[in-house]
Amino acid sequence: MNSIPSDSVFDRQERLSIWDQSIIEDSCVLIIGLGGTGGEVAKNLALLGIGKLILVDMDTIEFSNLNRQLLFSRSDIGKNKARVAKEVIKDRFNSSIDIDAYSDTIQSLPFSIFEEADIISGCVDNFLARQYINEHAIELSLPFIDSATDGYFGQVQSIDVKNTACLACDSPHPPEETRLLTAPCTLVGTPRIREHCAWKALYEFHTLNEREPDENSSEDALKLTKLANESASKYNFPLFDEKEVIQTVLYHVPSLITVNAVTSGIQSQEIIKTLFLDKLNHFPEKSRKYFQTLIDSERFRIPDLTIYSALTGTINSFDLKKDPECLVCGDSSMYCQNPTTININPKSKCRTIFTVLKRKFKKDFIGFRGNTLIPGDVPVGEILKDRDRITVSSLIDDDEKRIIIRFKTKKS
Ligand SMILES: [Zn+2]
Repeated sequence: MNSIPSDSVFDRQERLSIWDQSIIEDSCVLIIGLGGTGGEVAKNLALLGIGKLILVDMDTIEFSNLNRQLLFSRSDIGKNKARVAKEVIKDRFNSSIDIDAYSDTIQSLPFSIFEEADIISGCVDNFLARQYINEHAIELSLPFIDSATDGYFGQVQSIDVKNTACLACDSPHPPEETRLLTAPCTLVGTPRIREHCAWKALYEFHTLNEREPDENSSEDALKLTKLANESASKYNFPLFDEKEVIQTVLYHVPSLITVNAVTSGIQSQEIIKTLFLDKLNHFPEKSRKYFQTLIDSERFRIPDLTIYSALTGTINSFDLKKDPECLVCGDSSMYCQNPTTININPKSKCRTIFTVLKRKFKKDFIGFRGNTLIPGDVPVGEILKDRDRITVSSLIDDDEKRIIIRFKTKKS
């Protein structure tokens, strides 16, 4: 053991046999969701010496966050979570860390953010956001470590596009009915159960308004209920009242700081391990050989799914089955193929884009996910802002298919 005094604040962790501080310092982690788990992950990674964090959360700090979200205090109520987290982390935990903070919806984030990251840490509390992150992670072949907590239980899932199941695979988790929600076609197509109408309404609300609905806004509740009931009546389900819709799509799960702390600890550790594995060649030869023996003997592994129960004090890990038919990561998934690239002048009118797309693909486009592109006279550059890619839904012979198109905007 090294007994020479060190002036590095990371001295104690650098004494580990499988450790390379330079890998951590050269890495960028995108953390989506700065709530109970995400805030802890951000704090952990900052204290571990991560080089860069990109923090994303559109929510504002509420009074009910303060018993478990350690980055926030009473004076922060009403402020944006990502922006406050950035200031607090730099001020209190690591002044040399590079942090970008975004208060946008994840659907409106520039793709450059995903491309800059070495790994995504998903700490969100709803399936739509999870699905969106999952798709981007698969599309960009980015490692994705997702976490979720519910009362006494926490879980962490590690997703590697080539080797593991993704969140949309036919795996034991999430539960059957909820899993159906992760299938994109359920949201843009025929609802199979009544609750799908409410989730479909939320999906449409995002597309129309480019934001989450405010659960305290009666206007938003009305809009959601109207959208949900359009589907419910179309598919012969009983209609919703406003309270039912809000409870279905904006339900707040019970949360405990202890479960958040354990879950975020597991998630942070899996992030570091994934970074080390991805950059194995950075280790000096002797360490690399030792590392490899640990991997070969399975004394070093990244479980597909880890579940913590605060009730029994147990942490168990599981393998998940990758689904070759998966809409997102399966063999025929569009996400695993190269997206089509179209060069477009940002000054072109939106209606021109529709003409180009229809001619190119000989398809009748019905919508654009992540944004609403109406075939009008508005220049496409104003709609896309600094995004350079958008996902298109298309309808061909009553069979819904999706195409990812990367717009290469010409700066002019
Ligand atoms: Zn999958």
